[in-house]
Amino acid sequence: MEKKKEFNGHKGIFAFRIDLDFFHPKHVEKTLKAAEKHEIDMTWFVNMETGQFHEREIKRIAKTQDVQNHAFLHETFKDSVKNFENIMKGDKLLQEMGVKCSGFAAPFGFWNKELGSALEKTGYEYSSEFRKGKNIFPFYPKGNGKKSKVLQVPIHPICLGSLFESGYNEKEAIEYFDKIIKLLYEKQIPIFLYGHPTGRIGAHPKVLEKIFEKVKELDDVWFTNLTEYANFWKKKKFKQRKTTWNEHNVFVEAKKSKNRKMKSFYKGQLMRVEKKKISRRLHK
Ligand SMILES: [Zn+2]
Repeated sequence: MEKKKEFNGHKGIFAFRIDLDFFHPKHVEKTLKAAEKHEIDMTWFVNMETGQFHEREIKRIAKTQDVQNHAFLHETFKDSVKNFENIMKGDKLLQEMGVKCSGFAAPFGFWNKELGSALEKTGYEYSSEFRKGKNIFPFYPKGNGKKSKVLQVPIHPICLGSLFESGYNEKEAIEYFDKIIKLLYEKQIPIFLYGHPTGRIGAHPKVLEKIFEKVKELDDVWFTNLTEYANFWKKKKFKQRKTTWNEHNVFVEAKKSKNRKMKSFYKGQLMRVEKKKISRRLHK
């Protein structure tokens, strides 16, 4: 397997994104403990509507983790000014806790051009969504006819919550992530996963731990976080890699050879070819 310059000379790359929407202190703590036990620096996008009441916990997270902004209201508006105000309100509250942000993740992963133009004004380096764009690697999304200056860092869009909602249990979820990690690694696609602490990975920290263990079994993986990776990508000025886009929010690389095959078995959920029993349940 080749070493990739996009992976800073490694064969693979891993980062984990946390979307912290509703602050459940116990589940947050369990999530944090799992990361610290495995010495993983995750990127936590904290929604500040509830986060504002958890200064002590946020400061605690920021000691070992990368903390970024997940807006004040958990919403993306069709209005640039409203989006800007919503981002900056979250930013200000975090700053008052001593957390300086340069990254944003839109609520529900919903990116629109009004959000794009608001992000431009924030001076933020990057955002991470998964519902717009055409790349599995970072890229600059287009809005209002021109390329944004704010880098988009996509992630694999299936989280533990999506799996639970599709009828998976903990054991099946662990199997899913095992397979997706293996697949992404083999295809040399960034292993950028995400999840929510409350009721999800905080209630099932074993899933997160298994993910870390699985990635650590792989040869030569760069463990990074989304902020570090966005900065790296911008500094290196990598060329945008052309991809195709599928409506179920799964990113498929557009290189001719293996691509077609991947596309046919992606169709929304990567598990389709991997495990029929589960995939039927997923599509009900
Ligand atoms: Zn959220």
